[in-house]
Parts: sequence; structure tokens; C-alpha cells
Amino acid sequence: MTGIIFDLADFSTADGPGIRTVIFFKGCPLSCRWCSNPESQHFHPEPLYHSERCLRCQKCLDACPLEAIRVREDLLIDRTRCRDCTSHPCIEACPNDALKLAGRVWSSEEVMAKILPQRLFYQNSGGGITFSGGEPMAQPHFAFALAAQIKDAGLHLGLETCGWFTSELDFDRFQLFDFIYFDLKHFTSDLHQTCTGDGNEPIIRNLRSLCQSTGPKRITLCLPLIPGVNDQEPFFHWIIGLAKELGITQSRIIPYHEFGRTKYAALGRNYPCDSLRELTDYQITTFATLLRTAGISCEIVGRDHA
Ligand code: SF4
Ligand code: SF4
Repeated sequence: MTGIIFDLADFSTADGPGIRTVIFFKGCPLSCRWCSNPESQHFHPEPLYHSERCLRCQKCLDACPLEAIRVREDLLIDRTRCRDCTSHPCIEACPNDALKLAGRVWSSEEVMAKILPQRLFYQNSGGGITFSGGEPMAQPHFAFALAAQIKDAGLHLGLETCGWFTSELDFDRFQLFDFIYFDLKHFTSDLHQTCTGDGNEPIIRNLRSLCQSTGPKRITLCLPLIPGVNDQEPFFHWIIGLAKELGITQSRIIPYHEFGRTKYAALGRNYPCDSLRELTDYQITTFATLLRTAGISCEIVGRDHA
């Protein structure tokens, strides 16, 4: 069984308990404006260009069979010409890692060979493996097959999902995951569509189905907190109502940050959140307090002091 992955990140402490390896699946049905992993959105491998490493040697220009690379002020990959060739001669030709590939096909055996030697780190820290992305459930056959192998190996396993996946999945198979971080971004479907590319109906429907099949205890609601989008009390009152209805008692707030900015440049895309400013600790804590007062635990990710 194979799938496309764009990164395997070891020693993460932000994607579940303990020390974890995060497996980033490539491809996502949504395209959130604030996405900090824009290289995760397309389902195919694609070249990233890191200008600061470029020697201007032009070896990649000569290597590209489609003349998709030009030089203006900087190197420019014409993404309308680039066919993301499987052999990536441009990347092979680059002597300084200025061109890198985002995504490649992995077999589940390859992934297991990478993670199993770290079993002791996971066990000693109470950690394990987390599927992230992109959207892991956009590659459901690969994701469930790999999840079964990881559980057979006795490892702790988590899933981070945007919640947008087909309702035809066998929801009982989500019991392979010890925890599920489930994103909710807005209660108004229109605004959800404007900001993420699709409405929220399939997401809410899937959350209800998941709660029925796995029970609510496995599920933590993940709330990206985006200035001007959902940093308002009505969003949190909606979250509290939904959590109480479904019996979910855990949440995480992920405040907007700019970590993805350089990746947009590497993909030759404009950063879509130029006008956004990060929220203050006070603003974030106010929303966390709303949740906690309603009996929903709330972890603030990436702001230890908030
Ligand atoms: S991936 Fe292929 S087509 Fe695209 S820039 Fe590189 S060599 Fe050219
Ligand atoms: S081969 Fe690499 S270092 Fe040379 S111009 Fe291309 S990207 Fe820059």
C-alpha cells in the first residue's frame, strides 16, 4: 500500500502527548487562507525554490526538459509549464538544495522502517505517531492500512483532521486512533466556504458520525483562531453548544501565526494573510476562559504563557 507524504517530522511535542513522529500526508480538499503548510494542499509532488540557497548557477534551467524555469530578478518556476516530472531533473541538478521536492510516494513498509527504531522514545515519553497533513483521510486506504500496521506494532496513534472527507468511510475504523484532533473553523457555512474553499456541512456531519462510532472521549475540537474570521464570542458559544450536545469535553486553540509565510514564497505564491496580525495573549486567554468556564478543557497551542 502506498500514499503520498510530504514530511515525516520526528521529536514533535505539539501534536499529541509525549514525543511524537508526525506523518504529513500530502493533499487536502480545503485551502484555508491561513494554511501554514501550503505545500500540503496539492496531491502531487511539487518543487519548492528557496532563493536564499540559490547560487544562480542555472544548472536547473539546463536540466528542465520543459523550459519551465526562467531567470528574472530571481529564479522563476513557471507552474503552468512545470509538469512536476517524477524524476525531477531540476532538483537532481541543483548543487545546493535550493530546489527541493515537496512530497513523494511512500509505502507503508517504508514508513514503518523509519518509525520503528524510535519506539523507545515514544514509549519512554508516552508519545507515538500522529497523522497530519494535508488531510490524511483524503488518502483513506493508505491511512487506514498504515494505521493498522502502527497499532499492530503496539504504538500510540493520533489523527489530525480538517474533518472534510467522504461520509462513505467505515467510521468504525477510526477506532484505530487513540485520539482525534478535529478542526472546526466557522459556524456560518458561507464564511467557511469563503475562507476555506468549501462549506462546513460535511465537516459537522462527519463529526457527529465520528462521535457515534468512536465515542466523544477520543475527540478534541481544534480551533484555529484567526483574526477577523472567528475571533468572536458567537463562534465560541456555538462550539460550546455543539460540544455539549455531542459530549465532547476537550479543545485546543491554535492561534494564527505566520510560520508558513516563507513556504508561499518557495511555491511562487503570494502570502494570502498579509493584512493579518497575530492575536494578543489576552485575547486568546479570554476565549480559552469561555470554554473552560463551560466545562471544556482548553489547551493553547504554541503560547505556553497564555
Ligand atoms: S519538475 Fe520537471 S518540469 Fe518542473 S521545473 Fe523541474 S524539471 Fe522542469
Ligand atoms: S541549480 Fe539550484 S543553485 Fe543553481 S540556479 Fe538552480 S536552484 Fe539555484
